[in-house]
Amino acid sequence: MSDSLQKKIQEICQSSNNDRARMMDIVQSVQKEFGCVSSEAMNLIAKATKSHHVEVESVVSFYSFLSKEQKGKTVIRLCNDTVDRMKGCQEVAKALSSELGVKFGETTSDGKITLEYTPCIGMCDQAPAALINDVVAPNLTAEKVKEIVKNLKKGVDPSKLSLGKGDGNNTDSLIGAAVRNNVLKVGDVIFADNDSGKGLENALALKPEEVIDMIKVAKLRGRGGAGFPTGLKWQFTRSARGEQKFVICNADEGEPGTFKDRVLLTEKFDLLFEGMTIAGYAIGASTGIIYVRGEYAYLLKFLKSKLKERYDQRLLGKNIKGKSGFNFDIRIQMGSGAYICGEESALISSCEGLRGDPKTRPPFPAQRGYLASPTSVNNVETICSVTRILEKGSDWFLSIGSTNSSGTKILSISGYCKRPGVYEYPFGISITDLLNDVGAEDAKAVLVGGPSGQFIGKNEFSRIICYNDLGTGGSIVIFGPKCDLLKAVDEYMEFFVEESCGYCTPCRAGNILLKKKLEEILEGNGESADLDYLQSLGEGIKKTSRCGLGQTSPNPILTTLKNFKPLYEALMKPQEKGMQPTFDIRAALGDAEKAQMRKSVLYKN
Ligand code: SF4
Repeated sequence: MSDSLQKKIQEICQSSNNDRARMMDIVQSVQKEFGCVSSEAMNLIAKATKSHHVEVESVVSFYSFLSKEQKGKTVIRLCNDTVDRMKGCQEVAKALSSELGVKFGETTSDGKITLEYTPCIGMCDQAPAALINDVVAPNLTAEKVKEIVKNLKKGVDPSKLSLGKGDGNNTDSLIGAAVRNNVLKVGDVIFADNDSGKGLENALALKPEEVIDMIKVAKLRGRGGAGFPTGLKWQFTRSARGEQKFVICNADEGEPGTFKDRVLLTEKFDLLFEGMTIAGYAIGASTGIIYVRGEYAYLLKFLKSKLKERYDQRLLGKNIKGKSGFNFDIRIQMGSGAYICGEESALISSCEGLRGDPKTRPPFPAQRGYLASPTSVNNVETICSVTRILEKGSDWFLSIGSTNSSGTKILSISGYCKRPGVYEYPFGISITDLLNDVGAEDAKAVLVGGPSGQFIGKNEFSRIICYNDLGTGGSIVIFGPKCDLLKAVDEYMEFFVEESCGYCTPCRAGNILLKKKLEEILEGNGESADLDYLQSLGEGIKKTSRCGLGQTSPNPILTTLKNFKPLYEALMKPQEKGMQPTFDIRAALGDAEKAQMRKSVLYKN
């Protein structure tokens, strides 16, 4: 074991107080330093954090951005999400592979550059896109790729590549990204100008219970998709027994087609930090954690500097705004590329330095969450809405939106449309109006809420976005008249198969069976009974899976079976009487032929 490895790993562990619960930070730093977390490194980490090798390894093996095998100093991760495929990522992939002389999953012969695919990186409005280490490379073409690879081969640091110019705070020297915000509709709540600090000031003038009442009266519901009433969640957390309480902001948007949190983190960080501080006051928490998906690592330095400013202004820390006894700190926890961590209990596991495994519920996080303490987990958009409610009042918030769905909803819109981007609408917008706004009047289908949501067709475009009709966390993907919808369904099933944590059998095995059957149908080997099989298996997976991933993963199949059944039926071949297209006679005869040492005379091939 080299002394330098030992010394560096000790330093890294010490910077996280040798705290086993900070395992994510530790292994991320080791990966950054050495290009992998080797077995030797795991031993050293285990020793320093008083854990076991196997515990460290279980974390490293779980997250796709971590590896125990040595990777290149530069890792190019090309996003191959459905929208990126619509926008030509295959051409970009070919160019990358040929310029680097390696296949995906391989490292160049000099060991310098690794090429990989990754699912959605939150850049669907500027696809095809890739991450080059932490640097975002949007709007890629085969031509651009040649230039990028040429420079990387010359040894240019990824952060110095010329990738185009971003807008807004993306031009800040601490971000310096080519990313664009693409905010194309500013609504009244989140993107409207706000009176910074007023929400917190008003909150501190009230009792914590009164703050919770305001949120309840405003009828704010979680913007992440589930729609649980925020005030009620806070009340449960406040009244739960526990010496310490926590506020966690879920900024791990991983639903393919979602990218609104990216923009909120870049432009509305103050609204978010203020809302978390209000939440801390209301529920009696002194610590807040923002869990940011690993794909947004390019925002980390910037967000940390904004947090520091708030500490300097005494908006965080001890006795905030002179309120004696009100102390609140916020730390950022980076994820490492695992979709399941968007599920709140998996996200808590990850914050605790564990694999991102969902936890069995009950108990719910409000009773027993982070480090077994009462915890409120809220989405970025929800927390930003809190700040505005405290600033402008519950009645103001109630006056926006539709019956039972107060306020606005931010949508990330991408796919087949002329103006992909971020739109903030009052609840109650119809899909037809939305398609007109984004320039997709002739759309064939819309995926509302991402693959875990639902595919709807033209006959349902008059439906509206709200909690009582089309609920969504924010992902809207549009499919044009010529798109192959079932191919997209297959891609989404591939995504769920990859992202399942594997804990429970219905999700781990069921999604593979669903995908296999779908593939048979797509290859023209399906029969009508297969559609019933897809339906009953899909429903079974939804009912018996342990967490939200399995409870929604069959949706791409189930909602296209419901709304686009003719697409499946058109693939069914008329069968000869008594023949089963999925029965492989050659394989069935294989063993007998071997035993007999002769070929069948009837079925030669
Ligand atoms: S449903 Fe899937 S992701 Fe959720 S716990 Fe089960 S295996 Fe893991």
